Amino acid sequence: MDDLVALCKRRGFIYPASEIYQGINGFWDYGPLGVELKNNIRDAWWHDMVRCPPAGPDGEALSIVGLDSSIIQNPRAWEASGHVGGFNDPMVDCRESKARYRHDHLLVFRHKSDADVPMFAFLEGEPAPALKRMKKLAKGRSPDDFETVAMTELGDDALPRIVGPDANKPGSLTEPRQFNLMFKTYVGAVQDEDSVAYLRPETAQGIFLNFKNVVDTSRVKVPFGIAQIGKAFRNEVTPRNYIFRSREFEQMEMEWFCHGDEAEKWHSFWCDTRARWWQSIGLQSDNLLMRPHGQDELAHYAKEGQGTFDVEYRFPFTAPGFGELEGVAHRTDYDLKQHQTHSKVKLGYFDADRKETYLPHVIEPAAGLSRGVLALLCEAYTPDPERPSKVYMKFQPRMAPIKAGVFPLVNKEGMPEVARKLYEELRSKHVTQLDVKQAIGRRYARMDEVGTPYCFTIDGDTLSDQTVTVRDRDTAGQDRIALDKVGAFLAEKIG
Ligand code: ATP
Repeated sequence: MDDLVALCKRRGFIYPASEIYQGINGFWDYGPLGVELKNNIRDAWWHDMVRCPPAGPDGEALSIVGLDSSIIQNPRAWEASGHVGGFNDPMVDCRESKARYRHDHLLVFRHKSDADVPMFAFLEGEPAPALKRMKKLAKGRSPDDFETVAMTELGDDALPRIVGPDANKPGSLTEPRQFNLMFKTYVGAVQDEDSVAYLRPETAQGIFLNFKNVVDTSRVKVPFGIAQIGKAFRNEVTPRNYIFRSREFEQMEMEWFCHGDEAEKWHSFWCDTRARWWQSIGLQSDNLLMRPHGQDELAHYAKEGQGTFDVEYRFPFTAPGFGELEGVAHRTDYDLKQHQTHSKVKLGYFDADRKETYLPHVIEPAAGLSRGVLALLCEAYTPDPERPSKVYMKFQPRMAPIKAGVFPLVNKEGMPEVARKLYEELRSKHVTQLDVKQAIGRRYARMDEVGTPYCFTIDGDTLSDQTVTVRDRDTAGQDRIALDKVGAFLAEKIG
């Protein structure tokens, strides 16, 4: 991860937010290449979900429409959705280090037989500091004599014996307390209880709030979907693992409205479809996993017994385990019912085929765009000691931030003019970079490091026979193709 983070900074994918002011924990900025990569994933999702969704389970064409709702909504919407009351993660504070942790993210090493030995807490996936303290504070004991236990399985009476993840003495962790993850703000000039509003913690609710508008103003018929991509904000207790868990992030969510009797069928359809979509943008199947949620993890809306499936990815910091990329939930009619009750506006749908008015059930594939960027970066990172760059980013060509490099072999003898003309032709369709300086090997290395799939070099032969060299990023092999075929070649490869 350290190497990937350094590359992302060095080459302009991702920077810490407010870096010249020492940053701000949990916030990140996307640089010139990061924003291209993010937009490529966003555009692929919008294309594959809204403009051109896959055929349904019976081969029928699906209907999904787009939406872009406000980040701030009437705060009553968040009471109805359960976020004001229920969007709480119990957390523990550390009196010694002042750090704050999600209770369900903490594990401890506990001695198997001796209750006098302190327990050493650590964050899931990050046991190293706890092992270090165990060596210091439990001298003479072997790590094999310890077992791993979830903090949630221990009672409060264990707290005096636990050494916190960033502490040196036992007993500094508080009992778990509720914490609301929504960012609060005030709307208007007066700042009081009546002007409190929230930044949305998910894009989904904006869709439910507009369900009736969309039904009344477009020609959709159940089953259909409403899709939205946008920012969401959560005051995460422990933002960590780079952009995996941040406080401002982007989601790509689709609410699929269907009759309750058909929810099961649609749930399994969307689970399959979404897993295949992540593969289609370049995530290898053995790094991807579909995992049903345990009953204890079900969100407040999910239907008991079926609930949620996660699409998970094996990130370097979760390996050999997996981390969530997307959840596919059966939200039942929970949200529409809640909004109907709280707003007192009827949200029932009249189904002309069934001659019945009902609240549709909802299947929700909710994906993280920011986590998608991270997964694609992790998957692309390919060390190769043979290359001058030592590493190349093996993005699928459709996702690569720069699609082509155009280089004159030397910056004279008519080559720069030909290169510029080719560059101007290609850039009207694809992100292309013209690079005229330094040895050609250095220019290839720079393109390898940012994952540009094809480079075209204009050399002495180009001037006589109108061909150019095309270099393939993955094989580093070179071929010659006609100068006037470069546009078609690239279009075919990028897809
Ligand atoms: P987690 O258990 O990791 O906190 P969640 O189950 O609360 O996530 P959802 O509410 O289902 O997440 O949100 C849908 C998607 O939004 C997640 O699959 C994830 O990709 C993304 N997401 C959620 N929280 C964050 C975050 N803090 N930073 C980046 N992406 C996030």
